[in-house]
Amino acid sequence: MGRDELLRSLRTRIADDRVVDAIAAVPREHFVAPALAAAAYVDAPLRIGGGQTISQPTVVARMCELLELSPTDRVLDVGSGSGYHAAVLSRLCARVRGIELDPRLAARAARSLAVAGIDNVTICAGDGALGLPGEAPFDAINVAATARDVVPAALERQLAVGGRLVAPVAHDGREHLVLVRRGPNGFERHLLEPVRFVPLR
Ligand code: SAH
Repeated sequence: MGRDELLRSLRTRIADDRVVDAIAAVPREHFVAPALAAAAYVDAPLRIGGGQTISQPTVVARMCELLELSPTDRVLDVGSGSGYHAAVLSRLCARVRGIELDPRLAARAARSLAVAGIDNVTICAGDGALGLPGEAPFDAINVAATARDVVPAALERQLAVGGRLVAPVAHDGREHLVLVRRGPNGFERHLLEPVRFVPLR
């Protein structure tokens, strides 16, 4: 599958045109190993080293759509990996803070973002399950590694009122996307479609 074919296919399945425009604006080949550049626009996860994978474009698009981002939003990206998902998010909001457990991946993501000319994303190395309390609250939080049973409470607490969070959650051997909205009176949680991600460690 080539780039144009991927974008055409996304437009039939993703209702929010801004999200597909954001995917179109980010060169995915900058975020994969040079050996995989030819496969950069296949709608599949790709290896990024350290046993981790860059998420499938359809899944990245779907998660961005669920976050209903606006241009002034501040976003936290947990499990930044290659930095690709953070790059797509950055086209839809004001600023992205990324956090990645593997310091080598975090350093490489920062380089890839610089090469792609993206300057509103900062990636740091650390445990994303704790979030970045010093930078909270966030208008949106994207989690790209699977939490066990529930969304980490520390992350929910770092949402602004009106904020949205999307995360894969495993429960009873099944894994689904969970969408959390923080309203004035508490959290609303919705169980959505099945997905597969690497575990949140
Ligand atoms: N969003 C990434 C792919 C995510 S793969 C991209 O676009 O490339 C999931 C990532 O989560 C992996 O890189 C893994 O190292 C990271 N991860 C797992 N547990 C984590 C934790 N507790 N804190 C931060 N990152 C974590």
